[in-house]
Amino acid sequence: MNVDTEVRRRAQVPPGGWLGLLGGGQLGRMFCMAAQSMGYRVAVVDPGASSPAGSVADRHLAADYLDPVALAELASLAAATTTEFENVPAEALEYLGRSGRVSPDAASVAIAQHRIREKTFFASNGFAVAPFAVLRTAADARAADPALLPGIVKTARLGYDGKGQVRVRTGDDVVAAFASMHGAECVLERFVTLACEVSVIVARDDRGAATTWPVAENRHRDGILDVSIVPARVDAALAGEARRTAVAIAERLDYRGVLCVEMFVTGDGQLFVNEMAPRPHNSGHYSIDACVTSQFEQQARVLAGLPLGDTRQLEPAVMVNLLGDIWFDGPDAAAPREPDWAQVLRHPQAKLHLYGKAEPRRARKMGHVTCLAPTLAEAIDVARAIKRDLGIPLTDGL
Ligand code: AMP
Repeated sequence: MNVDTEVRRRAQVPPGGWLGLLGGGQLGRMFCMAAQSMGYRVAVVDPGASSPAGSVADRHLAADYLDPVALAELASLAAATTTEFENVPAEALEYLGRSGRVSPDAASVAIAQHRIREKTFFASNGFAVAPFAVLRTAADARAADPALLPGIVKTARLGYDGKGQVRVRTGDDVVAAFASMHGAECVLERFVTLACEVSVIVARDDRGAATTWPVAENRHRDGILDVSIVPARVDAALAGEARRTAVAIAERLDYRGVLCVEMFVTGDGQLFVNEMAPRPHNSGHYSIDACVTSQFEQQARVLAGLPLGDTRQLEPAVMVNLLGDIWFDGPDAAAPREPDWAQVLRHPQAKLHLYGKAEPRRARKMGHVTCLAPTLAEAIDVARAIKRDLGIPLTDGL
């Protein structure tokens, strides 16, 4: 790398300059908005003609992530580029990294986008994970250790929101589950009794400084995040351990950017690292309204080479995801209709975020609402009322 490139990669991008983004989804949209409110202009590469981020970006390059013309244009416009989803091709990041700052870097993304690499990285660096084995062949599946049952077979790639997963009880189930993945590499993971699921968002900058946000307690429905309760209702020692673990993982990766680490809290109070996302995360959306600095502003700060912002939480918060399902529960299930947002907005403590997606679909993330209150109990009450009004199923009273 020549000296000019090195200088460009380390230079700060002051507000007013351009930042680049690969990916046009809602995480990109919220990044754009945070960066723009600081005075940045954002250029987005996304193949769709319209997208949540593309519609708010200052420039939308509607092209494939590996399109050489679009990448060259992005590289000439923006000295620093980030991504909003982990399946962005590593080659695109490598290309952009040759001439400018890329956060996160291709190596970290490559680990996070592949479950075998990810779990092996955690285990070999001393981070506790649920016991697992790698299944690459039918013979591996047949030879699966019975100590890992009951368990879950998970594909190594493109698994998210519970997709690409099959629960298994017997050795025959493992063989059948592996066969159903059509030869894709998998892991078999022992089923762990969960007290709850938590996540920690960590941001780490070029100088190695790191900040975490308060631990989020996450509840899922059908494998998709339903609600995040923050701060998590876990004891202070466990919360501290979770935050230290997230920082240690970021350090071990020499990570630059925003990273989410999802963890299991077991019935007997142990913490297992489940997976990580090399980007802001749904469970950190509460930080937009509840914290001094949101995960998206922090993403912009790291990307621009600015100092990290304060992550302090100002009020307890409960975030409720708004999935496309609630567009379909009118009298005619075939004709989606806009939910009655007045039912959300009548609560002065509710902050509504809609992602501008033209087409509602079941299980599609369309928006979220964050409920803020002086106490967590009050925030939970508001979230419960909103879920009930919008027809989002309650689980265990929330
Ligand atoms: P994942 O895609 O690995 O995050 O898994 C999706 C969801 O399945 C998690 O959020 C958990 O609720 C559940 N799950 C995954 N792995 C396990 C496990 N080993 N034990 C218990 N529950 C699990």
